[in-house]
Amino acid sequence: MLLFRGLSVNFIQKGKGKVKIMAGETVKDAITIVADDELTGVEIEYMHIASERCSCGGEYDVEMQQFLEQGGRLYDKIDVTCTQCKKKRSFYFDITSFYGKM
Ligand SMILES: [Zn+2]
Repeated sequence: MLLFRGLSVNFIQKGKGKVKIMAGETVKDAITIVADDELTGVEIEYMHIASERCSCGGEYDVEMQQFLEQGGRLYDKIDVTCTQCKKKRSFYFDITSFYGKM
């Protein structure tokens, strides 16, 4: 997990992408990711989830990823479960900037 987070931070430092931090709990609140390609964009999604903690302090496990299209924007909805208290939540990411880019 630490190695993964370290790698992702390098991506940001290289200027390949950036994250605009918001709550990300609904489509309206989606975290907008600006990246040059899908590989970088998805990496940033997972880096963000790995850096978030449940209110109990636990880390999140990714359960499911779903693609959404709404109002002309493209989103990834990622369902996660806390590894400690098993509470579930979802993260919404606006992936319009990099979707389909290789
Ligand atoms: Zn928890």
